[in-house]
Amino acid sequence: MANLLIVEDDDLLRDALGAQLAQAGHAVTPAADGAVAQGLLEAQRFDGVILDLGLPRVSGMELLNWLRQRHSALPVLVLTARDGVDDRVQGLNAGADDYLTKPFSMAELQARLGALLRRARLPAFGGSLPTPAHQHGRLRVDANQPLAWVGDAPLELTRREWVLLSRLVTQADQVVSREDVLAAWQGEPGEGQVAGGALASNALEVYIHRLRRKLEDSGLSIRNVRGLGYLLELTRP
Ligand code: CA
Repeated sequence: MANLLIVEDDDLLRDALGAQLAQAGHAVTPAADGAVAQGLLEAQRFDGVILDLGLPRVSGMELLNWLRQRHSALPVLVLTARDGVDDRVQGLNAGADDYLTKPFSMAELQARLGALLRRARLPAFGGSLPTPAHQHGRLRVDANQPLAWVGDAPLELTRREWVLLSRLVTQADQVVSREDVLAAWQGEPGEGQVAGGALASNALEVYIHRLRRKLEDSGLSIRNVRGLGYLLELTRP
């Protein structure tokens, strides 16, 4: 799931793209011209942009240049009706990450977009740069999505594990209370409901146990501070 901006002045195509990508689980924000897109890019954080080159007001190429001056690593998939080699070369030179010529199939768009987003999330590609992350020792936890790494190795995390780990890392070397974690879990989907009381405490124990196993080789450990909560600390420098 990614937070996507679709910049396309063709209403039908924009709606169709939006519907398809929303169905694929993405959060989609539409923009009908380059100026609106600029405003949105200034106000919000996106994981990727689908950009039509032929746009009114601010052209797609201008927007791409503007974008590259500000968000250097934001993945951009460019769409164009024109299939001239010049446009393609110009677009790629201006910093498009990939290119689709209209008409294209939705399956191809989804495949290309998926590849772009996956690549952007790899630290080796600098994709983590525009995303704020919390760091403690070798552990880095993405501030916006359920991703974390020990060194360069990604950790497989559920959303609740990520919320819990985010709490621990932002308050590293301080005690995080059970109540804080349970409050942060409110509204997180999946993995069964966590009710109040003893059941919630038991669930929290289970998650702490899982995180401890995932952090085994990280040089960090989660300490149980009796009656107070949990504390993430370095076990070796
Ligand atoms: Ca257009």
